Amino acid sequence: MKENLGMSMTKTVDHWIGGKSVEGASGTYGPVTDPATGAVTTRVAFASVDEVDAAVAAAKAAYATWGQSSLAQRTSILFKFRALLDAHRDEIAELITAEHGKVHSDALGEVARGLEIVDLACGINVQLKGELSTQVASRVDVSSIRQPLGVVAGITPFNFPAMVPMWMFPLAIACGNTFVLKPSEKDPSASMKIAELLAEAGLPDGVFNVVHGDKVAVDRLLEHPDVAAVSFVGSTPIARYIHTTASANGKRVQALGGAKNHMLVLPDADLDAAADAAVSAAYGSAGERCMAISAVVAVGAVGDELVAKIKERAEKIKIGPGNDPASEMGPLITAAHRDKVASYVTGAAEQGSEVVLDGTGHTVEGYEDGHWIGLSLLDRVPVTADAYKDEIFGPVLCVLRVETYEEGLALINGSPFGNGTAIFTRDGGAARRFQLEVEAGMVGVNVPIPVPVGYHSFGGWKDSLFGDHHIYGNDGTHFYTRGKVVTTRWPDPSDAPAGVDLGFPRNH
Ligand code: NAD
Repeated sequence: MKENLGMSMTKTVDHWIGGKSVEGASGTYGPVTDPATGAVTTRVAFASVDEVDAAVAAAKAAYATWGQSSLAQRTSILFKFRALLDAHRDEIAELITAEHGKVHSDALGEVARGLEIVDLACGINVQLKGELSTQVASRVDVSSIRQPLGVVAGITPFNFPAMVPMWMFPLAIACGNTFVLKPSEKDPSASMKIAELLAEAGLPDGVFNVVHGDKVAVDRLLEHPDVAAVSFVGSTPIARYIHTTASANGKRVQALGGAKNHMLVLPDADLDAAADAAVSAAYGSAGERCMAISAVVAVGAVGDELVAKIKERAEKIKIGPGNDPASEMGPLITAAHRDKVASYVTGAAEQGSEVVLDGTGHTVEGYEDGHWIGLSLLDRVPVTADAYKDEIFGPVLCVLRVETYEEGLALINGSPFGNGTAIFTRDGGAARRFQLEVEAGMVGVNVPIPVPVGYHSFGGWKDSLFGDHHIYGNDGTHFYTRGKVVTTRWPDPSDAPAGVDLGFPRNH
């Protein structure tokens, strides 16, 4: 949403360019809402093309020295940033809850998972060690080194306003690049706190910049000649657009998209553990996670018992504002999104599903204008139903019934998405088959949300990722650097002159 909001808002979020907060000059602002109350609490400045250009120029100027800085200098700043991030976990989590709505413990969890990537970046000296082969021919050595790209950009979604930017910039700047972040306009404050902490840690001005805004800002980053690479995380249609556009403009690009994550439950699974996992993974963060389980595939006779166990657990989840420690699930990001999520439940029976739990129409006393929706559970969902085909991104869990492992696998592999998936079983052989046969980038065995640790890379297959690199881990370092191979000969003074030889150089 883009509007002129006037000056009535108590708080304005500006840009962060060249090491300081810079007031928005476009005259255009977006509203930031507290999802628990429905009240607009803040306005966020939307960057014009000129303001994006100013951020890229600041990053380009900073690259001249940052790109040449020593590994020791970069890592010492990152260690200080890590300590500051650790000390400010609660404050960042509070900002997330106030603008995103997720419960405080969940917001703390996202900060912790972002911090993992800062840990990795603190050890970048190990990852950037090159390779050397000596004496590949007489007196010839060959070394492979990796160098930074220059100015790189990150465009991030609303659902993890601290963690997803931290999937990107710690490794990018550790590798010697400078960074321009365009966070989600729905919850922009966490990224500004992070910018302040980076400055406090001693990061030189211009190495990390934040521009807020919408398509105008994003499109300028995609076409700017001084932006070398673009990392994107968001929905599939926009990920596809980012990949196509940035690639056409000659940029390196990784664009992570949406998901429909399946959990296959075999007849031998521990059904209590599977039900616990399904409820946690489907309804945590109100289903607004790209790794949320949104489809349970029940194999054989387990369906009735599993659905009963999921229902029993889901009914007990306490819904309320994210800053209330008693709340387990908060509101959705906007009223429009809540209404869209509700429409999938309202239309479910007509499209052939059994509505076991209907969360539409839920309200929370004292917070009547919040973006609330309760937990919904749909059973015997046909693969043709919209609730199954679309990424709903809300607290709606679909259960599908199949007779065999093969049928379940085919169903999962038939999805256009391939982000995460999980199998619940006690059979090691079946689990091993599944991890080899399933078409998804991240697989959990009795683990419902298999988000890789920082030193492995995160990424999906098919419509869940466009580009060749997954994000963070070794892929992250590769994405933010380019390789160079140096072949060196130091002749010995006693060597006879090599003479002219027009033949192609050969080693043997
Ligand atoms: P989104 O695609 O609407 O927005 C993501 C970013 O793109 C935002 O910064 C937004 O301002 C920008 N944007 C939106 N529309 C644009 C347009 N037309 N042109 C240019 N830029 C545009 O996503 P969202 O609603 O913020 O986040 C939820 C989505 O992100 C879900 O689909 C979820 O699965 C996905 N997601 C994926 C991962 C992953 O790792 N694969 C992680 C988190 C979220």
